[in-house]
Amino acid sequence: MPCPFTEEHQQFRKTVRQFAEKELAPHEKEWEEDELFPNWVFKRAGELGILGAHYPEDVGGAGGDYWFSVAKSEELPRCLMSGVGMGLLVQSDMATPVINDLGTKEQKEEFLAPALRGEKIAALGVSEPNAGSDVAGILTRAKKDGDDYIINGAKTFITNGTRADFVTLLAKTNPEAGAHGCSFFLVPTKTKGFSVAKKLKKIGNLSSDTAELAFEDMRVPKRYLLGEENMGFMYLMQNFQSERIIACTSAVAGGQYMLDEAVQYGRDRKAFGKPIIKREYWQHKFVDLSTKLEAARALTYRGVEGYNDDKYVKKDNVSMETVKLISMSKVFVGDVMTEIADQCLQFHGGWGYIEEFHIARAWRDQRLFRIGGGTTETMRYYVAKLMGL
Ligand SMILES: Cc1cc2nc3c(=O)[nH]c(=O)nc-3n(C[C@H](O)[C@H](O)[C@H](O)COP(=O)(O)OP(=O)(O)OC[C@H]3O[C@@H](n4cnc5c(N)ncnc54)[C@H](O)[C@@H]3O)c2cc1C
Repeated sequence: MPCPFTEEHQQFRKTVRQFAEKELAPHEKEWEEDELFPNWVFKRAGELGILGAHYPEDVGGAGGDYWFSVAKSEELPRCLMSGVGMGLLVQSDMATPVINDLGTKEQKEEFLAPALRGEKIAALGVSEPNAGSDVAGILTRAKKDGDDYIINGAKTFITNGTRADFVTLLAKTNPEAGAHGCSFFLVPTKTKGFSVAKKLKKIGNLSSDTAELAFEDMRVPKRYLLGEENMGFMYLMQNFQSERIIACTSAVAGGQYMLDEAVQYGRDRKAFGKPIIKREYWQHKFVDLSTKLEAARALTYRGVEGYNDDKYVKKDNVSMETVKLISMSKVFVGDVMTEIADQCLQFHGGWGYIEEFHIARAWRDQRLFRIGGGTTETMRYYVAKLMGL
């Protein structure tokens, strides 16, 4: 596949790299300890055009294709905190694509445009205490009441949830209809009845916030219904494709970073009279890991190619062939990342277990990849279905 990045993409990549290395990375210790990166990060990313590069100009984006988002996702890991990358990607690629796809002019003006400017923080509210993989099993209920909906229920694991200005929220409008009874709403968090029930303590991605949300008789006007009633599950399946493919490109870049750092460490660290990278055992290990990472990148780029073609060229829904490629990427990248993180930590010996070395944090952070946005097992389950097995 020829290089998909033009000069324009590379210029944009440079902007993101500088942002990550100069404005974010210097704060890594502080934000990880605080278990929260500050809100100005969203605002600054918006000012630099990082959040909206791949959105149309009429919603305040730069009108670029999806490869801009890929370039962004590949550079953010340079800030050394996956949590920051995750918070920003939720803002630009997880909670907002569905608004661009389905939103009315007013909804885009009220929610999408300020999110791309980094002025309003966005969260995606899908998972619930009793339903994550099996989204059709959600219990949050939106009951029609005149021109409003009354929403009751709870969401959990919500990234940006403690400080979001609005939540792109999935709720049941017809509980008897399973997957065909879900609808999306845009819910300002200042709505009466909305509360942050708990900030969850995590084992990784510490600089991001993850919350449990509660809704008690929350009255949401009909104008905040996104798209058609009861079509939410289908919209979510489309929205997931952006979420998953961008998580993959970011993870592959993080894997490359881990490998590069480890190789450098191995040049300096000596054992039994020579640098440990000069041991054939490790050389072959790094050859295998680098090969797997290249394969993961190639597969992921095929998913991006499909996504870009479907959404940006044909301006249509993501095709089933692309969904299959993206789901396969999520599985494969997850397995490769786990192996890279584990072997790179092992290669650092005792220092790999000590916080001073980035690999310790990277090892913890990457573990989320096989869970968030669709577990490895559910991805295999979907691919098996798509293969007609
Ligand atoms: C840090 C973090 C951030 C997150 N951010 C968000 C967010 O912003 N918004 C949001 O909505 N959600 C978010 N999530 C939720 C995440 O998407 C879910 O955790 C994930 O989808 C899995 O759901 P679950 O945790 O309920 O696990 P479950 O669905 O209970 O799964 C438990 C186990 O069963 C397995 N399993 C389930 N179904 C099958 C099957 N058919 N075949 C084989 N095995 C199966 C799973 O793979 C898993 O191993 C986040 C989660 C975390 C941890």
